Amino acid sequence: MKGSCNRKKLIVIGGGFAGLNLIQSLKHAPFDITLIDKRNHHLFQPLLYQVATATLAPRDISVTFRELFAKQQHTTVIMGEVVQIDKEDKKVVLENGDTFDYDYLAIAVGSKHSYFGHTDWEPFAPGIKTITDALKIREHILTAFEIAERLDSLTETPKYLTFAIVGGGPTGVEFAGTIAELIKKTMHGNFRRIKTEKARVFLIEAFDRILPSFHPKLSEKTKSDLEKMGVTVLTNHAVTEITKDGVRLGEIFIQSRNIIWAAGNSIPTVVKTLGSEQDKQGRVIVEKDLSIPNHPEIFVLGDAAHFKNRKNIPLPGVATVAVQQGRFLGALLKAEVRKKQIPKHRIKGFKYFDKGSLATIGTGKAVCTIGKFNFSGFFAWFLWAVVHIAYLIGFRNRMSVMLEWSIHLFTGTRSSRLIHSTIDEKLPKRDDI
Ligand SMILES: Cc1cc2nc3c(=O)[nH]c(=O)nc-3n(C[C@H](O)[C@H](O)[C@H](O)COP(=O)(O)OP(=O)(O)OC[C@H]3O[C@@H](n4cnc5c(N)ncnc54)[C@H](O)[C@@H]3O)c2cc1C
Repeated sequence: MKGSCNRKKLIVIGGGFAGLNLIQSLKHAPFDITLIDKRNHHLFQPLLYQVATATLAPRDISVTFRELFAKQQHTTVIMGEVVQIDKEDKKVVLENGDTFDYDYLAIAVGSKHSYFGHTDWEPFAPGIKTITDALKIREHILTAFEIAERLDSLTETPKYLTFAIVGGGPTGVEFAGTIAELIKKTMHGNFRRIKTEKARVFLIEAFDRILPSFHPKLSEKTKSDLEKMGVTVLTNHAVTEITKDGVRLGEIFIQSRNIIWAAGNSIPTVVKTLGSEQDKQGRVIVEKDLSIPNHPEIFVLGDAAHFKNRKNIPLPGVATVAVQQGRFLGALLKAEVRKKQIPKHRIKGFKYFDKGSLATIGTGKAVCTIGKFNFSGFFAWFLWAVVHIAYLIGFRNRMSVMLEWSIHLFTGTRSSRLIHSTIDEKLPKRDDI
């Protein structure tokens, strides 16, 4: 890849929140940018669970990089997976051996699931990070009801109508609440042989409360709201085993064919090839300007970076951190190439502005923390909806999500209930029962 004489070559690995905001903030700057991503689209992960629970379609929360950068002439998009970073030769290597060289490198590869060393649990408890994951979970949830309707065994049906969500953070809470609503509002009355109201939802958390990053009062409120919706919340229960038949929490075994993993994160293995210091989760420990030690031309941002705030606590892996870091790095690079001197951004470093946290429990119910204010209920949910619409990329997506949510709010129906595969491959064999 060759850059024109005065333009610097910038490679951005990953077009998530951090990568996208970085590139967008360099629109008119003298950079030849190459975005390398293993997918062809930017994905709005905070609403992925709504694809998995049949409320939204994949296209509502994603947009292709080609559309996004069609008018940004100096941005080239390469679909591929970076497998190695060679910081001495200043190049990155793709899965087939193709190489791309850079003057500046921004690594924004996000995070992936971590099963705390129990990779054998993954086939029975899928996690959610991509459209493919969300569609698999959607297919699984919807098919579970179909299988239950087919089965004539009273002992087997409950297994298919039991949903166990592991991890009581915002994603786990959102999943539990939405599945409870799916059972009560959407599926209710659609089946003849099973009683959908007998379906059960468990939310399992190892810590002593759900939503541990929120104020304890909000954790309590969320627990009581979920319980009113029919969810059994199990705190202080660590998962000890997951099999195709269910999940074990020490002495307790919950029989379930529908387990969803919403716990633990780790960082894609490519960052190891950087050879820079990483924390326990695999996040790269970065300097105050997001660069890595001794390499002011390499930056790590978003979920993949370990950046400590003023209280010396690492920033959480959330979209707002990634967005702000992307914009910060854009401003830093612009200043550096234009002024040809150390910009103030390098000296002062990145400062995170915490705008607060939101988590939705169900339609019309959410919890919110903004500074010292903690509140819950319809207003918190309304705020959650407005913030998510505002952060979504693309006018079409915003309109489409608003329409789907309005229809769901007034009718309880969900528009994405198609099962794409046939049931036979998922139906248990007679001797398997
Ligand atoms: C289900 C779910 C719900 C969430 N809900 C919220 C929420 O409500 N609020 C909130 O603030 N945050 C939420 N988050 C977290 C938020 O989405 C992340 O913090 C944010 O996406 C991080 O941005 P990023 O740019 O670092 O990484 P990502 O957005 O994950 O983007 C990483 C990109 O890198 C690409 N990539 C990875 N490895 C390679 C490679 N080797 N080569 C090429 N490309 C690669 C990926 O394809 C991807 O496009 C949620 C996350 C999930 C999974």
